[in-house]
Amino acid sequence: MNQELIFLSLLVTALGSCLLVGVSGFLVVHAAMREAELQARSIEHDLVRSVTSYQPVEEVQRELQLKAASRGLHSAVLLGPGGRVIAANDNTMLGSSVFGLSWWTRLGENSSDLLTCLRPADAAAACHSVQPVNQFFGFIPAFGGERLVHIAPTPLAIEGRPDLGTRGLLVLELDLSPVTQRWSRWIALVFLAGFAPLFLTETALVFFLRRRLLPELLGLAQVDSLSGVFNRRSFFEMAAQQIGQFNQNHCLCVVALIDIDRFKSINDTYGHPAGDEVICQLSTLFRDVIPSGDLIGRLGGDEFAVLMLESAEEAAAVLESLRRQVAARSWRLNDGSLVQFTLSIGMADSRLARVCNIDELLAAADVGLYAAKGNGGNNLVPPNEAGTQGWTMQLA
Ligand code: GH3
Ligand code: MG
Repeated sequence: MNQELIFLSLLVTALGSCLLVGVSGFLVVHAAMREAELQARSIEHDLVRSVTSYQPVEEVQRELQLKAASRGLHSAVLLGPGGRVIAANDNTMLGSSVFGLSWWTRLGENSSDLLTCLRPADAAAACHSVQPVNQFFGFIPAFGGERLVHIAPTPLAIEGRPDLGTRGLLVLELDLSPVTQRWSRWIALVFLAGFAPLFLTETALVFFLRRRLLPELLGLAQVDSLSGVFNRRSFFEMAAQQIGQFNQNHCLCVVALIDIDRFKSINDTYGHPAGDEVICQLSTLFRDVIPSGDLIGRLGGDEFAVLMLESAEEAAAVLESLRRQVAARSWRLNDGSLVQFTLSIGMADSRLARVCNIDELLAAADVGLYAAKGNGGNNLVPPNEAGTQGWTMQLA
């Protein structure tokens, strides 16, 4: 039970922490990616200044190399008509076609509208309307990743190179792995920070439920709501449990069945609620008179059973005193009316009946109760008679 509860609380905690990480992770990654986009935009603005200031192409190339080194760019490329590389941080790319670059092929459909910017001058006007495109690459490509490719249309004004036209594309590839590592560590931290308090709270809650609430609920389920003594099912379970602890040869207990005489007439005369009150008040007397270690249960209606651990003589003395007290008493009900009634009691002794299970002991006590009713009620039939008769009847 304990292991199951701990496992359950671990599972719930892990799920709770995952949820925490999911929500906070989403927010953090989203913020980090937006930050990366802004960074790309700011680099783009810096570079646009140098590609539009009539500098020689070598100067533009130098600017790109400097920017790439100082701003942590993976690559920085300026594309001219036909997708040719005019300038790039990597000299080996110069003059080659953009269509041979690995990130370009991975951009797929997204960049198709940008391709118009790479066609001859007559189509260049279309680039005015094209917004920069950001594309993430990594293990969650659509959401965030290790690389950001930022493609931005740019005006071109290069000294001595009218053949390059007035429009180009600036392609920046940012390395996001430091950011990715940072937010991965942050998410792991959130998981651990959330897990410990959640687990402690869960475990405390589970143990509180187990220690305080479960016994309370269990108690309520065991008790008969009207009389406050054990209900039929619990009486049988607990009696079987107690009797089961006896060694078969040393089974020392007494079982009694107690029934109100002509209880139906109380209901008929005073009403059903009055009958309920009688059951309730009588149960209180049972709990006062019968020793606390003994087991009292209401089997149904006006019939009660008692499992007593005293000797048959001691048990008979207690029950006889109970019968006398009830017979001598007038019971005042809530509406002020006075009710009188008597009890019939049948007893069985495990030694005399030579049985050691609750069903057979109750059957023997029932024989005694039947005899008590036959004697006109207000009667106790002790175990010697009830047990013997019960035993004889079972043999017959
Ligand atoms: P006897 O002397 O043979 O025991 O007769 P009796 O009237 O006591 O017994 P009988 O079995 O004929 O009637 C029991 C009555 O108890 C019948 C039923 O309506 C009533 N009864 C059963 N449960 C309850 C209860 O919870 N509250 C009340 N008020 N009456 C109940
Ligand atoms: Mg009765």
